[in-house]
Amino acid sequence: MHMREQLYIDGQWVDATGEGDIQVIDPATEELVGSVPVGSSADVDAAVAAARRAFPEWSQSTLEERADILNQLSALFKERGEELAQLITSEVGTPIGYSRMAMVGTPSVVLRSYAKLLADFEFEEEIRNSLVVKEPIGVCAMITPWNFPLHQIIGKVAPAIAAGCTMVLKPSREAPLNAFVLSDMLDELSLPAGVFNLVSGRGSVVGQALSAHPDVDLVSFTGSTGAGVRVSEAAAPSVKRVTLELGGKSANIILDDADIATAAKVAIGACFANSGQTCSALTRLLVPAGARDEVVDIISARVAGYSVGDPRDESVRCGPLVSANQQASVSEYISSGIEEGATLIAGGEGMPDGLESGFYVKPTVFADVTPDMRIWQEEIFGPVLAITTYDSEEEAIALANDSEYGLSGGVWSADEDRAMSVARQLRTGQVSINGGAFNISAPFGGYKMSGNGRELGAHGLEEFLEVKAIQR
Ligand code: NAD
Repeated sequence: MHMREQLYIDGQWVDATGEGDIQVIDPATEELVGSVPVGSSADVDAAVAAARRAFPEWSQSTLEERADILNQLSALFKERGEELAQLITSEVGTPIGYSRMAMVGTPSVVLRSYAKLLADFEFEEEIRNSLVVKEPIGVCAMITPWNFPLHQIIGKVAPAIAAGCTMVLKPSREAPLNAFVLSDMLDELSLPAGVFNLVSGRGSVVGQALSAHPDVDLVSFTGSTGAGVRVSEAAAPSVKRVTLELGGKSANIILDDADIATAAKVAIGACFANSGQTCSALTRLLVPAGARDEVVDIISARVAGYSVGDPRDESVRCGPLVSANQQASVSEYISSGIEEGATLIAGGEGMPDGLESGFYVKPTVFADVTPDMRIWQEEIFGPVLAITTYDSEEEAIALANDSEYGLSGGVWSADEDRAMSVARQLRTGQVSINGGAFNISAPFGGYKMSGNGRELGAHGLEEFLEVKAIQR
C-alpha cells in the first residue's frame, strides 16, 4: 500500500492543510492502492513562494548542472523502472509491457534527450544591432492528467529543469502516486530546495489556485478541453503564459493505393493502445468505399481475438479503463453508437466475457458511422473505433478535418508524395504516414480545440523560455 501523507514543498515533506485524502483505486481489482493528501490554496501559496525564492539562484545554474540532474534522474528511472511500471499499472490499469515502455521507458529517454539538447540549443542570437537572449520564464505551474501520468509530467519537468525554471506540480487525482516517487527521486538527487514542489489535490482547488496565482509565470496544462478553458480563464487576469495540451478525435485515412491489410491491422492498436485512453489515439478510420468490406472483415476478426483482462498478465493487450466514471462514460458512448444506427462489427455493450469486476468495457468497433453521430464527433477516451467510407481524396481530407479537435492523424498510401500532400492538408499537430513511429524530439501538440502549445524537443523547451532583445 502506498499511503503518502505529506506534500513536497521547499525541499521538505510537509503536512497538507486540506481536509481528508485522495484514494487511489486499482481499476483492475477495484482495490485500494494508496492515497495522497488533499492540498489547499494555502499549500499552493507556500509552494509558489518556495519556487519564487529558489528562482534567482536556479535560473543562474549552469547548463552542465541541469544536464547532470536530467541524466541522473533518467538513470534512476532505469534503476527503479520495474517498480514504477508496476505502480502505474496499478493506478491506470495499463498492460504491464506497455507500461514499461510507454509509462517509464519513454520519459526516461525524454529526460536524456533534454540533457543532450542543452549542448546544442541556441540560447542567444544576433539580430542586426540586437543580442536576443532566451531566459527561463520563472515559476511554472504544471497540471497533469492520469492517462500517461509520468510521461506527461516529464514532458513538463524535463524542459523546465533544462530551462532553469522552478516549478509546482499538481498531478491527477486518479494516478498521483508516481508523482510522489518522482519527488522522492528529485529529493535524493539534491535538487536545490524549492526548484521542484508537489501539491496534490483537486483541480477545482489546487489547479485553480495555481492558474490564478499572481506569482506564477506559466501554467503548463495537459487534460480535457473543458478544464483547459477554465485554467485559461483563471490565468487571464494575471497575463501569464498558458500552454494547453488537450483532447483529440484524430482521423486515420487509408488511401486507395495503400496496403489495406497492413493499414487495417495497425489501425486497431493506433486506437486501442492504453485502452483507448490516449489523447492522440486514431479513433476515426476513413476507408475508400471500395475497401469497406475488406477492412471490416480484417478488423472484426482481429478484434474478436483481442485479449482483454488483467493488465499484469503479459499476454493481455487491453486492460480496464481508469475508473468507474470512465467505464460508465465509455459504455454510454457504445450505447449511443448502437442507438444512432452505426453498424457494430466488434465488441458492444456490457463487460468482456469472463470478467465480472474491474472497470472494463469490450473493445468496440463501429462501421458505417456518419459525421452527425456523437461517436464521430466526441472524444470517447476508450477502446472504441469509428469507421466510415469516402469516395474521393478531397472528401477524405474534409471528413478528417471535420472535427473541433486537431491533435493527430494518420495517412496510408503506397505513394509517399501523395501521403505527404494529404498530411499537409490535415489541420492537426501530428501526422503519421504508413505507421511512422512517435518521435520524442518532435513537437507534440494540437491545432484548434486540441490546444495551443508544443511539448518535447526544442519546441517544448521554448515554452519555458522568455525572450529578451538587448540593443547596442
Ligand atoms: P481533466 O481535465 O479532468 O484533468 C486534468 C488535470 O486538470 C487534473 O490534474 C485535474 O485535477 C486538473 N483540473 C481539473 N479541473 C481543473 C480546473 N478547473 N482548474 C485547474 N485544473 C483542473 O483530464 P483527465 O480526465 O485527467 O485526462 C483526460 C483528458 O486529457 C482527455 O481529454 C485527453 O484527451 C487529455 N489529454 C491530452 C493530452 C495532450 O497532450 N494533448 C495528453 C493526455 C491527455
